[in-house]
Amino acid sequence: MDDFLFKIIACPICTGKLIYSRNRSELFCKKDNMKFPIRENILIFTGDDVVKISRHPEEKD
Ligand SMILES: [Zn+2]
Repeated sequence: MDDFLFKIIACPICTGKLIYSRNRSELFCKKDNMKFPIRENILIFTGDDVVKISRHPEEKD
C-alpha cells in the first residue's frame, strides 16, 4: 500500500491519526487502542478482525 495513504488516513472511530506497522501489516489507533489489519491491500475497518488492544504492541516506553 502507498505510504501516502497512511499519512492521510484517519481512524474511523476518533478520526485521529493511525500508526502503520509495516512488518505486521496493521494500522493502530493509540487513542482507541484499536488495531485494523490490512489483508491483500484492503484495510479492514469492521468485523471480527478489528480488535481492541490493551497496549500498542510497538510502544517502547
Ligand atoms: Zn481512534
